[in-house]
Amino acid sequence: MVDLSPLGEDEPLLKDFKKAFINPHIIEKEGDKVLMDEGCLSIPGLREDVLRYNAIRIKYFDTSWQEHDEVYTGFTARVLQHEYDHLDGIMFVDYCSPLKKRLLKGKLSDISKGNVTTSYRIKVPRS
Ligand SMILES: [Zn+2]
Repeated sequence: MVDLSPLGEDEPLLKDFKKAFINPHIIEKEGDKVLMDEGCLSIPGLREDVLRYNAIRIKYFDTSWQEHDEVYTGFTARVLQHEYDHLDGIMFVDYCSPLKKRLLKGKLSDISKGNVTTSYRIKVPRS
């Protein structure tokens, strides 16, 4: 489920964007890659610049098992690429340079131990 409706205040186009993407496949990535800082609910408090394609074509099923083949651009395309990566176990910090990753190591380690403040509930794996 991708729910962008909370962003609707700033971006009216996203106001009604709440969709399930079942068995999604990004079948084309197009256009220039755009650099933009990203965050992730799974990595609270961290934001880093990530290069992503400005347009994608995605095939998926909705909750009525209707197949869709749609093109998304801009911010929505970015969010879909971010969420799609999660299905492959990829986090946005995986795109950082080795040096940057080394600099982030302490912060990531703190987050994995639950040493972080969030406005939502998080579950920390037992060590
Ligand atoms: Zn995420």
